[in-house]
Amino acid sequence: MRLFYDFHIHTCLSPCGDADMTPNNVVNMSLIKGLDVIAVTDHNACGNAEAAMQVGKEAGLLVLPGMEIETCEEVHVVALFETLDACREMEVVVQQALPPIQNKPEIFGEQWILNAEDDCIAEESRMLVTACSLSVYDVVAQVHKLGGVVIAAHVDKSAYSVISNLGFLPADLSFDAAELSKNAEGKGWSDTDERLCGLKTIHSSDAHYLGDINEPMHVLEVETKEISSVLEAIRKKG
Ligand SMILES: [Zn+2]
Ligand SMILES: [Zn+2]
Repeated sequence: MRLFYDFHIHTCLSPCGDADMTPNNVVNMSLIKGLDVIAVTDHNACGNAEAAMQVGKEAGLLVLPGMEIETCEEVHVVALFETLDACREMEVVVQQALPPIQNKPEIFGEQWILNAEDDCIAEESRMLVTACSLSVYDVVAQVHKLGGVVIAAHVDKSAYSVISNLGFLPADLSFDAAELSKNAEGKGWSDTDERLCGLKTIHSSDAHYLGDINEPMHVLEVETKEISSVLEAIRKKG
């Protein structure tokens, strides 16, 4: 079975995410685009995953709970989980490792948590877009311990990626896949780039606006349209 995917989408919980990135809008836009499976991956938090999963279930879109974690090396890592509980466990670990800085919504943007009706049920006051004290090794190990998959985020970017920040992809760092962004090809990256050390590539949007969500261009071969099967397919070597 072939699924069109986008495994890196922010919601309005990320201060840099547009206010229109509500659970209903994200799910409906993904369906309009022709996608079969998405993940919501807010910065260091997963407060809108439950609503997006609920909305997706009703609308016929598979939604994975996830997060984009910023490590102490300022490396961005996309973590995807089989269950909301596992994702929330990781959220607790990450948030305990975040510095106690308050968000300044007027400067950085609002951090809204919504329900499945897109009603605002809470505002996250903690600054989410900042590095936690966990190393990239800690994050990979912890996500794997919780049964999730770890994707090196936007490895082609010149900041906040494992390759830009560490200089290379350490062989003992067991990522399940590496994410290339939309314009990676134009910057000289390909799925078989040597810098990826044979890692499978995932093409996600890192969408902060509805229009940026992936077009149906990138396909994942899965056994069944279930989260466990999607994670298994990401783990499989490319
Ligand atoms: Zn990022
Ligand atoms: Zn992102």
